[in-house]
Amino acid sequence: MNLKKLQLQKENIIINERVNNIYDVLDEGSYIKELIVEGKVLYDEISDNHHVDICYSAEIESKCDRCLANIKFYVKNSVKFLLDIKNNIDEEISIFIENNVLNLEDIIIEDIILNKPFQNICKEDCKGICPKCYKDLNKEECICEKEEKENKFSVLKDMFKEV
Ligand SMILES: [Zn+2]
Ligand SMILES: [Zn+2]
Repeated sequence: MNLKKLQLQKENIIINERVNNIYDVLDEGSYIKELIVEGKVLYDEISDNHHVDICYSAEIESKCDRCLANIKFYVKNSVKFLLDIKNNIDEEISIFIENNVLNLEDIIIEDIILNKPFQNICKEDCKGICPKCYKDLNKEECICEKEEKENKFSVLKDMFKEV
């Protein structure tokens, strides 16, 4: 089954798919290593509509925004919508459908982008990299900040001298 080209028919479709290594879809440096999608597309004969009801789990590999360490996290969610092809389709959905072929993969990717954390960080209190000496401050301390404080202090001392 190709989630990018899901042929809609007048019958139910059961989805149980695992897609690996979807590159270049999230922000720079992040990509979906594995996407697991389960659910169904139910066809309703009376209204001639399709009900899409799926849940997914995406394993994402990225880099910490502060210290650039490799990180991995999961985004999980469920997606439900109605496809009323004959009448008006939801405008947001209509760009993902053409000639009864649904691009479900891109709908899920959009949902991942909306639901993933705003910041990619390795841990809540990541200290990041020193902008002066480029040391990883989680692993070692540097003296840059200390030096800056001392410099300010010596300026103050000089001012007092002049008074
Ligand atoms: Zn970090
Ligand atoms: Zn430093």
